[in-house]
Amino acid sequence: MVNCNNNYSGYKRKRALKQHSRLRKNHMILRLISVAAVIGLLWYCINGLNLKEVSPEPILSIGTDSPDISSADIKKDDTDDPLWSLILVNRWNVIPEDYHVDLTKLSNGQTVDTRIYPALQNMFDAARADGVNLVVVSGYRTAEKQQSLMDEKVAAYKAEGYSAYQAKTEAETWVAIPGTSEHQLGIAVDINADGVQSKGSEVYKWLKQNGYRFGFILRYPPDKTEITGVSNEPWHYRYVGIKAATEMNDQNLCLEEYLRDKN
Ligand SMILES: [Zn+2]
Repeated sequence: MVNCNNNYSGYKRKRALKQHSRLRKNHMILRLISVAAVIGLLWYCINGLNLKEVSPEPILSIGTDSPDISSADIKKDDTDDPLWSLILVNRWNVIPEDYHVDLTKLSNGQTVDTRIYPALQNMFDAARADGVNLVVVSGYRTAEKQQSLMDEKVAAYKAEGYSAYQAKTEAETWVAIPGTSEHQLGIAVDINADGVQSKGSEVYKWLKQNGYRFGFILRYPPDKTEITGVSNEPWHYRYVGIKAATEMNDQNLCLEEYLRDKN
């Protein structure tokens, strides 16, 4: 009897313990679920913000007076001093050592020369009005950044089995040699689709048809690679001012040809 009782109370205790541990388990699972929900919510918030951050709308920041975005400003900007916007940089013309650039930061962290910011903003607004969503995926680059892009490209070709010389030669048709990249000027931008509302092909088409109206040219057209020394890059737009861009567009000239004809 005693044994029986002992067994019975032992059984009850076991059951209670089992129940207790089950409750603890459930409690733990609930806590894990709520922690996951909080993390999920945070992730969503941060991502939501990021999506906004990479929206093509440039937002002002560093150290410059806020440019007033109006067409009047762009016209003034365009005619006052055209020399800075017609600087030629390519594999045969390196950036002057004393080149200085004042930068304006865009909402996604990219930076551009402050002087092209109003025109860029205007172009993005016009594209958006046409239902095309643009993103600046690469603006100003330091020489160091350009060098690391080159190193990456060379390494990628080597990994494909190219010799050191071949890899370098091949890489240089895609990545500008440091000191010869327009990105180091801050007046060139790589523009792509936002990947949500627009596709790359739509963006390139829109830019090709409209870029010049805002002073931007398709810098490396497919039919000018011999002259520019760079392969077709439908995303790379360079600011030259509205007047020059319009003339180049009308006469189908790349920057090298335009400057040669002018001189
Ligand atoms: Zn580019």
